[in-house]
Amino acid sequence: MANKAVFLDRDGTIMHDHGYIKDPQKVDILPGVSEAVDILIDNGFMLFIVTNQSGIGRGIMTMADVNKVNDKMLSYIGRNKIKEILICPHGPDESCSCRKPGLKLVEAAEKKYKLDLKYSYSIGDKDCDRQLGENFGGTGIKIGEKGIKNLLNAAIFIIEKENSNKK
Ligand SMILES: [Mg+2]
Ligand SMILES: [Zn+2]
Repeated sequence: MANKAVFLDRDGTIMHDHGYIKDPQKVDILPGVSEAVDILIDNGFMLFIVTNQSGIGRGIMTMADVNKVNDKMLSYIGRNKIKEILICPHGPDESCSCRKPGLKLVEAAEKKYKLDLKYSYSIGDKDCDRQLGENFGGTGIKIGEKGIKNLLNAAIFIIEKENSNKK
């Protein structure tokens, strides 16, 4: 059986969205994130973070800044729990194919990890995060919709959906 994945947004989903964060001290993990990550892993999902960091393209911060912030975030979540962090560094006007809901980063992970995207999910706090899952032929979940208030709610939603599919 092919692997299934959940592609998690970073800002506003895993940690508070404080704008273009370049100071690792500002990393502020949202409630329920650790539990959500563990539930998804226990249910057989590979986890990726996919994040648009246009602050790099805009010259507000560097990839090194983003990596430092990501490192701090991983120290809270557990380094071995996230397969990879996929970053689009471009601004919206650069018309790249990696900026969410573009599929370039997801498709690279699909090949490398032999993912079955049909059985995979995206979760995030913006329309582009829902659109990402729809674009790759899986399920996209936007936090703030359908009574899903945070990442933990989204993880529970996925597990309930999986269990009802098995019946
Ligand atoms: Mg976000
Ligand atoms: Zn890009």
